[in-house]
Amino acid sequence: KRQRLPLPNWLRTEVPKGKNFHRLKEDLRRLKLHTVCEEARCPNIGECWGGGEHQTATATIMVLGDQCTRGCRFCSVKTSKAPPPPDPNEPVNTAAAIASWGLDYVVLTSVDRDDMPDGGAEHFAETVRQIKKRNSSILVECLTPDFRGDLKGVETVALSGLDVYAHNIETVQELQWLVRDPRANYKQSLSVLEHAKTVKSDLVTKSSIMLGMGETDSQVLQALKDLQSSGVECVTLGQYMQPTKWHLKVKEYVTPEKFKFWETVGNKMGFLYTASGPLVRSSYKAGEFFLKTVLR
Ligand code: SF4
Ligand code: SF4
Repeated sequence: KRQRLPLPNWLRTEVPKGKNFHRLKEDLRRLKLHTVCEEARCPNIGECWGGGEHQTATATIMVLGDQCTRGCRFCSVKTSKAPPPPDPNEPVNTAAAIASWGLDYVVLTSVDRDDMPDGGAEHFAETVRQIKKRNSSILVECLTPDFRGDLKGVETVALSGLDVYAHNIETVQELQWLVRDPRANYKQSLSVLEHAKTVKSDLVTKSSIMLGMGETDSQVLQALKDLQSSGVECVTLGQYMQPTKWHLKVKEYVTPEKFKFWETVGNKMGFLYTASGPLVRSSYKAGEFFLKTVLR
């Protein structure tokens, strides 16, 4: 039986604490909101939620419930064939909570809702509109599903008033079959990103790749090129971490130096920003990167 690889020390993180952390957690429970930070057992939760004196915390709010109709082999979100209908108050509750936290930048994401005719696109868009109605200067990033390739859904979200449209290809083309649910695929994901940019050219588009799943350097490079050809402007690369023993095993712990190498490659290729590091996640310091590079 293959043993798990030992966790290198650059991936060890502190136990979450601090006032902001507890406040966010309490508000989220009270409003029945879910976050990817918790569902995906993200190692950055202490850092992102801890924030500072001046509420710089970031959280990735998950709309449309906490049960996904898909089952990707890297993801610890619960799977269900028939999740309960989304909470109609969620867009308003989410917007109210976000406004009360005084954040500058928020990331909204969702499970895949293949059971809903529009994949949940309208619910997503309504959440963005509610947030912007309360505070039009707050920057909103949506990390969306692929809507089964239905470009109408992509359009609904792209035209909702958001600032950043993100959709993750997750891994290189060659490993899609192993890593993602069979209903997801590389070409479909690239077409989502391309379409978002086409319908609203001043949107910033963004995608994310996990490393450590057995991909080769040339496959990663090809993925970066494919993203660029699809108009994607920001990329993030981070280490895949196996959430439970039932999930896909880590093939390799990629070194911090190697992540640095990909950052240099991305910068040379001309992405607006390339966030690359063992603990980088799609939403990791998203606001900080955006303010530093895109709005520079
Ligand atoms: Fe949440 Fe993203 Fe930060 Fe992880 S990196 S804690 S998912 S905001
Ligand atoms: Fe997780 Fe895959 Fe569902 Fe996204 S589509 S929430 S990655 S199982």
